[in-house]
Amino acid sequence: MLQQTQVKTVIPYFKVFLRNFPTLQALSLSNESKVLKLWEGLGYYRRAKNLLITAKILVNEYNSKLPKNLIDVKKLPGIGKYTANALLAFTYNHPTIAVDGNVKRVFSRILNKNENTIDFDKLIKVNKINLFKTNRNSDFVEALMEFGALICKPKKPLCPACSIKSMCKYFKSNKKFTQIKTLKVKVKNYNIFCYIDKSKNKVALTKKHNLGFLDKFYLPLIKETLDNKKIKNWKFHSNFKNSISNKKLNINLYYKFSLKIPPQHRWFSLKKNNEFIPSFTKKIFKQISKIT
Ligand code: SF4
Repeated sequence: MLQQTQVKTVIPYFKVFLRNFPTLQALSLSNESKVLKLWEGLGYYRRAKNLLITAKILVNEYNSKLPKNLIDVKKLPGIGKYTANALLAFTYNHPTIAVDGNVKRVFSRILNKNENTIDFDKLIKVNKINLFKTNRNSDFVEALMEFGALICKPKKPLCPACSIKSMCKYFKSNKKFTQIKTLKVKVKNYNIFCYIDKSKNKVALTKKHNLGFLDKFYLPLIKETLDNKKIKNWKFHSNFKNSISNKKLNINLYYKFSLKIPPQHRWFSLKKNNEFIPSFTKKIFKQISKIT
């Protein structure tokens, strides 16, 4: 839940999730629609789907335990190298390091090198005797992340208070490296077309779209467009921006009152639905509910 999502956003979801699934077994016996419903509003829904599949695999194939080696952990859906290393350190105290943005920054500052020029796997391997002297590796991994977040911060690191400044080349150097800026994400334009049944307060949604995000989720008719021109025969409602995963969307929202809807669309209430609806669609509901 915490991937790409702030702690304060996650906490209420986490509590409800644990009430519903107090054990790995309970989660493994659930189904995708229930898990998605509990995840509704949290975004990045692939995480929820992968979590459910992983729970089923762990219960059925690993006697409800996390495998103990990196290769097997990385085979679980949704678990990449970073998460696998974090899990092995936190669960089994294994001598591994989860290299996130904070950890990369700490190492690159200690070496006073741009992080894009560092092979972190090699760095950890070469220095493993010193790095893994502790038998509290789980704490060490977490401490490294926290150190990057709280002391060796992206802007204005707290060097005078830092306990490792004597070994830090960035601190000692008169020629401090600067990080190469990452490329800006390009904004894409989309038109959204809402068919609205005014008398019943309903809007037509479909899973038939091919956006490369929110695939297989209910959305109104949506089309990518290269220009920002207004569309004939549809009423323009509003323009708004949205970010999904690492994509930035510039959206023109259109609507029409109609009892006829295109194939592969279904009516959904603007107020309450038992089925899972992504927050992207809910935001659109909120906007158009003002006109019904
Ligand atoms: S001395 Fe400054 S730059 Fe170096 S590790 Fe500490 S906080 Fe980071």
